[in-house]
This record gives sequence, structure tokens and C-alpha cells, in this order.
Amino acid sequence: MAHLKEVVKAEEGEIFDIELEADLLKANEELATKNRELLRKHGVMAIDVMGSIGSGKTTLIEKLVQALKKKYKIAVFKGDLTTTIDAELIGRHGIEVVPINTGKECHLDANLVKKALQKINLEDIDLLFIENVGNLICPADFPLGSEKRVVVISVTEGPYMVVKHPFIFMDADVAVINKKDLAQAMGVDIKKLKADVGEINPNVKVVATNGRSGEGVKEVVDALGL
Ligand code: MG
Ligand code: ZN
Repeated sequence: MAHLKEVVKAEEGEIFDIELEADLLKANEELATKNRELLRKHGVMAIDVMGSIGSGKTTLIEKLVQALKKKYKIAVFKGDLTTTIDAELIGRHGIEVVPINTGKECHLDANLVKKALQKINLEDIDLLFIENVGNLICPADFPLGSEKRVVVISVTEGPYMVVKHPFIFMDADVAVINKKDLAQAMGVDIKKLKADVGEINPNVKVVATNGRSGEGVKEVVDALGL
């Protein structure tokens, strides 16, 4: 028997500035709706890519760009705190990349995406990937205006990462379980991770990938209906 004390929980109203936060989330949602309307008007399909630091979001986007750039005119928004390293990696594939630096914020928000949308000619593109800051928690609360949401997790994050972060999967369309080649070494059962996602949201399509080799990328394309 583990000697666990009672769990300490934050109660409603206990959090500092809760009203401010509610206003903030509402304002974000309104801006996200406007972004979505703008994107739809120009026939642009926008897809969020969310996941922890090091899960393989950028590598997956690079592989998706390689697989799809003949079929679609693609742009990428790349959220990071202060660097443009990932944006440069993606830019090597000859597509437009808008780096978004959030400063200290640990997630993108609809306002930043709105500003990034002003940097590109929407008539020139038909597919937009938005790579969020590496974080599995608050991106769930900040819709950006995209049509679809992809969550990238990696077996290196351990066997419990899905059950520990349920909210990010509730609103997701596709979950990618990356670094499948390392599953055995990590002692992680991919079938169990898939089942965990299915329990949170049975509508999520789950694909196991090896982003480096490109294995499974075709299945991600199919899961996104692209
Ligand atoms: Mg990245
Ligand atoms: Zn955040």
C-alpha cells in the first residue's frame, strides 16, 4: 500500500484572477472564430500541431510538407518562445514559414495567429500547419481557428502520458504516437497508449509513426483526409 496523502486540489474561485482568465479565454475564442472565418473564406485548411517539447512535431511537419507540397500550396506558422530554429528547419523545404515568438507564453493564442495571418497572402496557399509551442496543457484551452487538431506524443514520454493529459485529446482529430521504434527500449506498449486515447475520445484517429524514417507519415496524411 502506498502512503499517499489526500490530494491537494485547487478549488473553483481559489485561483488568483479567475475572472480575468475567463475573459481572456472568451476573447481568444472570439478571435479564433474570426480566424476560422477568414481561413474558410480563402479556402485554406488550417491544422494545429500540438505536443510536448521533443515529441517530434517539427520533424512530422517536415515530412508532411515533403509528402504534400506537390498537391497543396503550404505555409507553416511556427510557435516558439524566442528562437527560430524549427522555422528554419521547415523553411528548407521551400515553403513560407512564419515564426511566432511568444516571449514567455507557453502556448500560441488566436491573437498571435491573427497577426501571423496578416503576413501571408491567403490566396497563395491552401494548407496551413500551425506548430504550437511544446506544451501539452494550455494549448487545449486556446483554440486558434484551425479546422483540425493533431496531438503528437512520443513513446519517450513514458507509458502514462496520455492518461495524465486527457484534455488535449478531447478536442483532437488525430493523435500521432511518434518514435515507435523506441517503444520496446522505453518499455511502452503502443497498443495501450492507443487504447488510452480511445477511452478519452473515441473519435480520435491514432497513428504510430517513426518521424525520422517517415514510417507512418502516409497514414497521418490519410487520417487528416489530405
Ligand atoms: Mg518543434
Ligand atoms: Zn500556456
